[in-house]
Amino acid sequence: MKVFKFGGASVQDIERINKVATIVRENQASKLMIIVSAMGKTTNALEKVAEAFFENNKERALELFEIVKQQHLTTAKYLLVTHYNPCYSQLNDFFTEVEWLLHDVPVREYDYYYDQIVCVGELMSTCIVSNYLNEVGIKTNWLDVRDLFRTDNNFRDAGINWVQTTHAINETIDFNTQNVYLTQGFMGATIDNESTTLGREGSDYTAAIFANILNAESLTIWKDVEGVMNADPKHFPEAQIIRELGYDEVIEMAYYGAQVIHPKTIKPLQNKGIDLKVKCFLDSNLPGTVISKKKAKNLPPIYVVKQTQVLFLLTSQDYSFVGDELIISLYNIFKEIKIKPNLIQTGAVSLQLCVDDRADKVELLASKASALFDVQIEKGLELLTIRHYSDDSIDQLTSTKNILLSQKGTETFQALYRLVSSK
Ligand code: ASP
Ligand code: MG
Repeated sequence: MKVFKFGGASVQDIERINKVATIVRENQASKLMIIVSAMGKTTNALEKVAEAFFENNKERALELFEIVKQQHLTTAKYLLVTHYNPCYSQLNDFFTEVEWLLHDVPVREYDYYYDQIVCVGELMSTCIVSNYLNEVGIKTNWLDVRDLFRTDNNFRDAGINWVQTTHAINETIDFNTQNVYLTQGFMGATIDNESTTLGREGSDYTAAIFANILNAESLTIWKDVEGVMNADPKHFPEAQIIRELGYDEVIEMAYYGAQVIHPKTIKPLQNKGIDLKVKCFLDSNLPGTVISKKKAKNLPPIYVVKQTQVLFLLTSQDYSFVGDELIISLYNIFKEIKIKPNLIQTGAVSLQLCVDDRADKVELLASKASALFDVQIEKGLELLTIRHYSDDSIDQLTSTKNILLSQKGTETFQALYRLVSSK
């Protein structure tokens, strides 16, 4: 069997859902577990609903939710004829679940409400897509992934209970009786049946877990791009497709911030040697990219740009050396506030590091670090990473930049710079 994952862009409108059906029809004989994300930008819209609710702005939350509802009802109406009624009634159950909650007053933490509200995006999209597949004659079994994926209650970044999840999947899924199953990515539920999510863009990870547990032949992630590229074509017009990559390279790329695949996706695949294919749903004949245990040779330079970076300059307060004690205390702060430095360099009495500019975390880091160091901050920076750099590639991209911090390893070059060079 194979696992297919369709991201939000591949189900964002009726033409695209049509394309999904064609791809599923062509492949259903191989037996498919299909994971679908929320349509288009639905998750972002639902995040706004959760925020309004948590700010006690019930009217605004309901209003914003109404827009999301109508978008889904319109899609269902245009797409479905014979299956409109069952789809409508299932969608209504999901709407009611959220609306009940929105009428409450928040008493628990934000992340809990976030998960209860946001996960409806994938419930709605999978309901519409599976009804459509059934309507066009592809017999599809819709599953609520919350009955399969058991997680802890670390809302918004839930951890999977592999034993219980494996058991539930093996109990439920039987490819002797069914060719096509379809379910939601990105979410699960606690033992108390509270919905949880696995982190933004987590559907890739869901798909990888299914592939691992079901011992899939391969996992295909269907995207609106031709495959994995060596740079984001929005920033690098001459970006090119990479046809073959090793798992290790993809893990590195994701680590440095390339938005190719969710960073947790590789491990479940690597553990069982399952190939990951990235293909374009707009033209399924294009070869795409294959990611496997084979280490790819002669890779071109791979460029990753991380925007909105903050540089911290930490200087020891009494000119004492930045030794192991101070470093351990600093890393304990990172752990406590769950922040990961993207680049770090230590000197004799000072230390520089850069992190993503997340309002909640940066201030906390500054205040906690100020107990140990004098703290100076500079915001509005960009971090460039080049994997497999050549001196030319570094020159080309950095010669005009005002670099504040850089690091060159055997495979990876990184530079942190100001966007507009100032005097
Ligand atoms: N819908 C979720 C998101 O937009 C999960 C996913 O697409 O992977 O983050
Ligand atoms: Mg997505």
